[in-house]
Amino acid sequence: MKYQVDQNGFYGNYGGAFIPEALQPIIGQLQKEYIDIINQADFQAEMQQLLKDYVGRPTPLYFAENLSKKYNTKVYLKREDLCHTGAHKINNTIGQILLAKRLGKHKIVAETGAGQHGVATATVCALMGMECIVFMGALDIERQAPNVARMKMLGAEVRPAMSGAKTLKEAVDEALLYWIENPDDTFYLIGSAVGPHPYPDMVSRFQSVISEEIRKQLLEKEGRETPDYVVACVGGGSNAVGAFYHFLEDETVNLVVAEGGGRSIEELETAATSFVGKDGVLHGSKTLFMQDENGEPLEAYSISAGLDYPGFGPLYSHMKELGRAEFFAVMDNEAMQAGLNLCKDEGIIPAIESSHALAILDKKQFKETDIVVINLSGRGDKDLDNYRSYFNF
Ligand SMILES: *Cc1c(COP(=O)(O)O)cnc(C)c1O
Repeated sequence: MKYQVDQNGFYGNYGGAFIPEALQPIIGQLQKEYIDIINQADFQAEMQQLLKDYVGRPTPLYFAENLSKKYNTKVYLKREDLCHTGAHKINNTIGQILLAKRLGKHKIVAETGAGQHGVATATVCALMGMECIVFMGALDIERQAPNVARMKMLGAEVRPAMSGAKTLKEAVDEALLYWIENPDDTFYLIGSAVGPHPYPDMVSRFQSVISEEIRKQLLEKEGRETPDYVVACVGGGSNAVGAFYHFLEDETVNLVVAEGGGRSIEELETAATSFVGKDGVLHGSKTLFMQDENGEPLEAYSISAGLDYPGFGPLYSHMKELGRAEFFAVMDNEAMQAGLNLCKDEGIIPAIESSHALAILDKKQFKETDIVVINLSGRGDKDLDNYRSYFNF
């Protein structure tokens, strides 16, 4: 299994758990127990029930006839935009909160950048009656007022991170500090396939329901379980690994990653990690990320708040090294146009993150007989202001 973690949490040369001494005991416990807990029958039963009745799974695999005609290939959209709360993130927060419950924790701490993960976390905390503290950069709190309001309505406490640039990095630092100080009753709920082992693998397993469903749905619609291509956008990599998971070891399935190219790769106004990243340790694992000459993470930029992360999860660094996926930097303007096209062609308003994946149809030639599955990670309601000011509606 080339694309699964080893006992130490490494994907080849990447991953691991580079954490402060104070976190060793709690993360060590998690590393030992997570797979056993996830595989227990009652855990699976409770998770499957919630995914079905609360999240609304299985999400449709929609044959996009108009897009298919336009691009002369077979395009399917995996409709994660139809999940409760509007994106795939809830698949993971459901899994992790059930795990936290089994570990006897009653408080959840999380960090959020744009607020989407904060909302998905606050949602499941409300559902499970758990206390929820979300750290958010003070600047992000100003920029993302609707999501802050959602979190508060859902009963979460939003704590501003006041240091440094007052964005995601500072929120991560403060959330970790809080966890170190409250290890006994608190669980740290990470929102993407990043962080120290076992988080990348744990998040991948919880999101893998996406590709599990794709296989079943393709078998029904096409008589075979595997597509020729799976396309997804990557911020930290959770929706993409969910869509890729059950195809990772089958190299007849081509995997395509759409990164936030931003405004300019040369000027480093970008989030295209695979193009400008270097090896180092970010958020507790070894991976590629954008860094200065001292190895400090640089501020990433993308028009999409969910993609402007300076690195990606260790699995992607490994896939890049082995050539398992093809990586594209999708520029802001290309993504915005692809998002608008989906509205006009199919009557679906996508999240700007997902628009990056859709833009691959303009950047890469597919054959008429190819089956191309694009993971539509989220819906565009949250992005209306952004679309509006971009297109002057
Ligand atoms: C958060 C988010 C992303 C990016 O995160 P990943 O972990 O890379 O999936 C992509 N799409 C949507 C809709 C999101 O909310």
